[in-house]
Amino acid sequence: MTSCSGCISTLFSLDIFPQFFEKTKIAYFPFIAEEEKLENCDIALIEGCISQESQIRLIQKIRKIAKKVYSLGSCAAFGGIINLSKKKRGDPISNYIEVDGIIPGCPPPSNLFGNFLMAILENRMFKLSNKNQCYSCPLRESIDYEFKTKITKLVPNNKEINSSQNQKCFLSQGVLCLGPLTREGCENKCIIKGMPCEGCLGSPSKSLFSNICNFLSQLNLSNELKTYEGIFYRYSKPTIKR
Ligand code: SF4
Ligand code: SF4
Repeated sequence: MTSCSGCISTLFSLDIFPQFFEKTKIAYFPFIAEEEKLENCDIALIEGCISQESQIRLIQKIRKIAKKVYSLGSCAAFGGIINLSKKKRGDPISNYIEVDGIIPGCPPPSNLFGNFLMAILENRMFKLSNKNQCYSCPLRESIDYEFKTKITKLVPNNKEINSSQNQKCFLSQGVLCLGPLTREGCENKCIIKGMPCEGCLGSPSKSLFSNICNFLSQLNLSNELKTYEGIFYRYSKPTIKR
């Protein structure tokens, strides 16, 4: 669907990629083959959000011919970054068809994606964590639980990213981190590299959007950040079932 193909590209870098292809027969894969015919299949992984009418018809067709349908990546699962645009919007796939599960992330972390593929190959259930990023964050010892520090930035400046791998929790440094509301499962890769969590794995509870509202109301946010709607729309555009 509408995507940057980043999620599907991740597939090729997975350790289990050769094994996965050995054990599956690809029915339809427009990213690598020109084959246009959709065939009955066991599993469909759909990447990208819905931003055009024709895509609704296509996913409805996929739902009919696939035994299981999964949303691959945060665009497919939550609408994704297209919703930062003032002119365009992207809906999650689940707005239009029933999905059997999501593989979140922008793109999905390789360990999570790999474990998911192993589970479907072995016909096992795959469960996402119900804990948040802070639970496994290496910076959690220094979290400012009273949220007194003024939050003035969405990201640290370049000098801070390169230095000392941010020894303190981002919230204690005045940088917005959505880790308290975001599902863990990426091994804190952004945080370890010096960037705060933006929420791409979604919420362990039902709605990331309402959790963000509650969370932001507790923070001491700068006026500039108070009016930045992108915090809400990156991975949590409110959705309505049609
Ligand atoms: S979730 Fe991220 S990586 Fe995947 S298609 Fe959307 S923007 Fe690209
Ligand atoms: S708020 Fe962010 S940096 Fe702080 S402990 Fe949680 S995930 Fe780590």
